Amino acid sequence: MKKYNFNAGPSILPREVIEATAAACLDFNGSGLSLMEISHRAKDFQPVVDEAVALFKELLNIPEGYSVLFLGGGASLEFCMVPYNFLEKKAAYLNTGVWATKAEKEAKLFGEVVEVASSADKNFTYIPRNFEIPTDADYLHITTNNTIYGTELREDLDSPIPLIADMSSDIFSRPIDVSKYALIYGGAQKNLSMAGVTFVIVKEDALGKVSRPIPTMLNYQTHVKKGSMFNTPPVVPIYCALQNLRYIKAQGGVAAMEKLAKERAEIVYNEIDRNRLFVGTAEESSRSLMNLTFVLKDEYKELEKDFLDFATSKGMVGVKGHRDVGGFRASCYNAMSIEGVKALVACMQEYEKNH
Ligand SMILES: *Cc1c(COP(=O)(O)O)cnc(C)c1O
Repeated sequence: MKKYNFNAGPSILPREVIEATAAACLDFNGSGLSLMEISHRAKDFQPVVDEAVALFKELLNIPEGYSVLFLGGGASLEFCMVPYNFLEKKAAYLNTGVWATKAEKEAKLFGEVVEVASSADKNFTYIPRNFEIPTDADYLHITTNNTIYGTELREDLDSPIPLIADMSSDIFSRPIDVSKYALIYGGAQKNLSMAGVTFVIVKEDALGKVSRPIPTMLNYQTHVKKGSMFNTPPVVPIYCALQNLRYIKAQGGVAAMEKLAKERAEIVYNEIDRNRLFVGTAEESSRSLMNLTFVLKDEYKELEKDFLDFATSKGMVGVKGHRDVGGFRASCYNAMSIEGVKALVACMQEYEKNH
């Protein structure tokens, strides 16, 4: 039976990306050596990093003056690196979920934190709008897609202070105006690559403004200067990212990814709204195109495990919702096909007929 991978992360990747990475693990560029056993400084590997950086710049239309970095530690380490490198006195945070809260918590270790708005009052089911940004803060931190709650801020905010964004789960799903950001980061394992590498897009002249000493490895300037080669980078995840960047380009770039994301989301949300058994959890205007969350209506709540078993028996993988939301979550990253979401919809319709 065909399986459809709706996992929230690590998550679906195009088959050809997985195959190319697996092939390089056996024999890298016909060298007779595995990608796992070559030096990251080998003349063969530098072109991998160079091409990945070039494709980042091309696909996201990154302006001059920005560096693209590939680091370790996951998005979670960025929660601490961001304030380490940017927070002199005060930082502003928009609290839209668990990840945003975690980012904010780290910042509090370095200085004053102002929460510009929070949607905690309604279990993060919406993205707050029209909040005021304090002009005396060092930066504003946002999380563009809230992987757990299925909400997304699908626009580039105008901020009077440097804007920093966690884009772990929606990078490469739409064109972004990078010039509006001082820094964009994310773990790769949602929409870019396998787990193990973190991407950072940073405006070089936004760095070096804090007075505290920064440990070498946690200083973005170290990695800018060394082109992500200060220490051994995660070569296999970077190679996998490169394959995926090539794939995105071949599909028509981020505009094509966005078109597909909208098509997929419309198919699934239409069914959630139509189906007698289900209801969406996020406010309509805040709905994510990446993580589509829904629950059974109150009167059908006891069917939760049964629907999950049914969906699993039909080949749907990873549709169980996060424990903070319950119900179901269909994560639809770039590699999810229209066929995949149609299969999910068919499954929801069949279940409705049976109940
Ligand atoms: C998954 C996720 C993280 C955590 O990423 P790690 O790489 O596991 O540290 C942070 N932010 C968002 C929005 C995420 O979806």
